[in-house]
Amino acid sequence: MRTRFPPSPTGFLHVGGLRTALYCYLVAKQTKGSFLLRIEDTDRERLVEGAIENIIRTLHWAGLDPDEGVMMEKGVVIQKGEHGPYIQSERLPLYQKYAKELLDAGRAYPCFCTPDRLDQMRKEQQEAKQAPMYDRKCLKMPKEESARRIAAGEKHVIRMEIPRSTTVTFTDDIRGNLSFEGKTIDDQVLLKSDGFPTYHLAHVVDDHLMDTDLVIRGEEWLSSLPKHLLLFEYLGWKAPRYAHVPLLLNPDRSKLSKRQGDVAAEDYKEKGYLPEALLNFLALLGWNPGTEEEIFTLKELIDRFSIERVQKAGAVFDHEKLDWLQGQWIRKLTPEEFVNRLKPFLEKHLAAALRDPELTTRATLIQDRLTLLSEGPDMLRFFYEEPGVTMELLANPKQKLTPELVKEILPQIRTTLEGIAEKDWNREILEERLRALMESKGYKLGQVLWPLRAALTGKPYSPGAFEVAEALGREKALTRIDNISL
Ligand code: GLU
Repeated sequence: MRTRFPPSPTGFLHVGGLRTALYCYLVAKQTKGSFLLRIEDTDRERLVEGAIENIIRTLHWAGLDPDEGVMMEKGVVIQKGEHGPYIQSERLPLYQKYAKELLDAGRAYPCFCTPDRLDQMRKEQQEAKQAPMYDRKCLKMPKEESARRIAAGEKHVIRMEIPRSTTVTFTDDIRGNLSFEGKTIDDQVLLKSDGFPTYHLAHVVDDHLMDTDLVIRGEEWLSSLPKHLLLFEYLGWKAPRYAHVPLLLNPDRSKLSKRQGDVAAEDYKEKGYLPEALLNFLALLGWNPGTEEEIFTLKELIDRFSIERVQKAGAVFDHEKLDWLQGQWIRKLTPEEFVNRLKPFLEKHLAAALRDPELTTRATLIQDRLTLLSEGPDMLRFFYEEPGVTMELLANPKQKLTPELVKEILPQIRTTLEGIAEKDWNREILEERLRALMESKGYKLGQVLWPLRAALTGKPYSPGAFEVAEALGREKALTRIDNISL
């Protein structure tokens, strides 16, 4: 099957868009078909510089590279495939040609109404509690008059005429049988006065000429579907299959919004989510395998996904579930792979770690504890920078540690550590000796472990005392304790 993902380059790639792209990708790969990236840049006022590159990079990060259409090679945007161009602004003559065909066939008409008139009309409709809809003033205009006004260069748009008495029926791959009454459908603008098409005309033309088999898109387009189906019919083309995927919702069931958290796929990348975790999460936002399984690789998703198992109801974006999946995926990485994934974050915030031959061993200490890769640099910092250790940190009331007790215990910890030879410096022996100290003096375990760990790391949370001491090495551990002024 040929599927397509056609974002508008108006900013970042929304996580909902990434989910749609994922579903498109899965269907194409499952059927050994093609996944195509098209750029819908017909809304000239909303274009954002660099948005195309950003979309391509984000898809690439997620592992969803297109087979055809717009892509990047050596940092430059290119187009590949036999159905191009794949950027709508490069296809204007095509849309204009089909708009003319619709005009000639009496399926569309020029409209000269000014924005002011349309605003006024809508206002009146609102006041009369009617659905806003074009009142067809220009439909009634004699052909000679419209021809004369067009010839005189007057600004106009092209609208499609929706037969009021028609009923459009269709079977959506997710929503099943649908039916729309012609009298509720607006006479949609197809071609704007600047010669650019609207989404409605452009996607119909493109999905026909690009041989799209299945359109997977957001639920927000469902109400426009009858217009699209009529356009296919008027142009004498067979419509593709359509599947309208459910909206993403906040936990309070409002539409997923920026206000309540991140919506740009890029933000997840920057925070240090693994693409595997985000994709796994997005796959399950609206789709389920019909079993209790929750962890899926992209390859497993290709085998298992089916559009029929996508739900109609909105899907709640549950951050806790995402973090849980992220944890699962982090733990699955080999130590080497974990370090590879950490590298971009270390480059930015802890470059010293990259020169450390022990980095992989040290990183394994945090692999079980971290959720986001972006937490890595801070969690590893104590290996590379002397921690600032305060009495406030050392004397932890939860461990029944007063400053007096810290002053009593820390020197004994030091003496115990000093008694361990370099060759015996490992977590087992450290544990054995420190337990012996604890038992001989009647201290609680936490009263020994807390000050040691805090002294070595300067942090209230970190990997355990024995692991940290082992990883730092004998000399560094002793020096760190010496550097604390009690
Ligand atoms: N450009 C449209 C959007 O970004 C595409 C919708 C579609 O998939 O057809 O919403």
